[in-house]
Amino acid sequence: MQNQLFINGKWSPAKSGAIFDVVDPSNREVFHQVARGGAADIEAAVAAAREAFDNGPWPRMSGARRAGILRKMGDEIAARSNELAHLEVRDNGKPLPEAVWDIEDTAGCFHFYADLAERLDNDAEEDIPLPMETFTVKAVREPVGVAGAIIPWNFPMLMAAWKVAPALAAGCTMVLKPSELTPLTALEYGSIAEKAGLPAGVLNIVTGYGPEAGQPLTEHPGVDKLAFTGSVPTGSKIMQAAARDIKTISLELGGKSPLVVFGDVEVDEAVEWILFGIFWNQGEVCSATSRVLIEESIYPRLMERLVEETRKIKIGHGLEEGVLLGPLVSQGQHEKVLAAIERGKAEGATLVTGGGVPAGLEQGCYVEPTIFAEVPTESWIWKEEIFGPVVCIRTFQSEEEAVRLANDTRFGLGAAVMSNDLERANRVARAFRAGIVWINCSQPTFTEAPWGGYKQSGIGRELGEWGLNNYLETKQITTYDRSAPWGWYLRE
Ligand code: NDP
Repeated sequence: MQNQLFINGKWSPAKSGAIFDVVDPSNREVFHQVARGGAADIEAAVAAAREAFDNGPWPRMSGARRAGILRKMGDEIAARSNELAHLEVRDNGKPLPEAVWDIEDTAGCFHFYADLAERLDNDAEEDIPLPMETFTVKAVREPVGVAGAIIPWNFPMLMAAWKVAPALAAGCTMVLKPSELTPLTALEYGSIAEKAGLPAGVLNIVTGYGPEAGQPLTEHPGVDKLAFTGSVPTGSKIMQAAARDIKTISLELGGKSPLVVFGDVEVDEAVEWILFGIFWNQGEVCSATSRVLIEESIYPRLMERLVEETRKIKIGHGLEEGVLLGPLVSQGQHEKVLAAIERGKAEGATLVTGGGVPAGLEQGCYVEPTIFAEVPTESWIWKEEIFGPVVCIRTFQSEEEAVRLANDTRFGLGAAVMSNDLERANRVARAFRAGIVWINCSQPTFTEAPWGGYKQSGIGRELGEWGLNNYLETKQITTYDRSAPWGWYLRE
């Protein structure tokens, strides 16, 4: 397990010598300590990234050569998947099969962007057709420069991959600041980069607290672009910091995503996707379908099966066989989610099942899978992101009402609809004001497809070609055909 900062290809302690504790959420015990980076370390990391961008080989080498290194990084992640998944379980708490999934997706993300890096050799220049022959114009795509990436704790290694892989593919250099709650797999990128032969200074990793390490990164004039995933309040701070120097930004923020279930679906199919939509990764998922709208005709039967299946969910340590719900990431998140549940009860929502700490698991940050029904639309729990295993349910009578309730939120990340009538499902999908829409499922995510939100859920799109474009500038190059007449000032 690494414990130092990775700057300019070297491992070093924080300049202040400070460290912070890494806590296992399954028992609240400190199991490791890592460097607590601050402004001086960010200064060194940005200087290294700047030098690597301005004078180093990385942005100047062919996409195919960058692709070779990205592929090696992907291969190394895949080769170490078991070890990295175990690290993620210890740091974040998630069940092992979900952690394995994350790491496989992480390796896949590097392989995907390796292919796009290679394609850039042909795609980076495009001729723009003009209605005249006097000029030819090309649009040329170039790396944006030094990127600062700030990532959250819910999918630590994968959320880093969504930024590191496209940034490196584009030819950018980067400073990565992981969440203080889950720094360990992010640090492993240092040794993965070393092994793959990534030039020094291209990827720099500074662990530390948000205000101490994250904020100086967002405010540093040497950073050209900021990429952030996390909460709306922190996203807003980052946008304000970026405004000062007009940095390019991409933000992937929170959500309160709806799942609309029409009465014509199979009950068990709906139960499966409602459960997956809110309880995978302990509900600590930005796109979790945390508001479920159920057509009245199917409501009693569906609720009965939903409650029955929810009560069967095995809660426990992420390494235990068959566990589907691990501990929440931290004591702070545990307190926050339990407080939200109390608030829901006080606001008049009906607590159908769960709502507390599971018996026998008091030593860790565990919360029972929780269902609230008849949740008032004006209540805090209906409107705000809880980021835990808590789902809010209401009924609806018509398609129009379902769409209105679904869209009645300041967020717009995900939305899902289930119906046997695909025409209706498609109509509703298009009526949703959200960036990611699922029909007859909830949550499946593909590296190839755009990911991001409407409204307060963010700015820009990650993944796919959209993810690569986040790290590219477009330059216009216009060439004058000197044989054609011009002479504006200097006339015969
Ligand atoms: P934050 O948004 O505060 O944290 C995300 C990242 O930003 C972390 O790396 C954090 O560092 C960093 N950060 C914090 N403050 C600053 C700052 N001033 N400048 C720069 N970087 C900063 O989320 P929290 O961890 O506090 O979680 C709070 C809530 O946010 C959750 O309950 C959930 O609702 C939401 N959230 C949403 C996520 C999503 O995927 N959309 C992911 C995570 C959280 P550090 O960890 O050291 O504070």
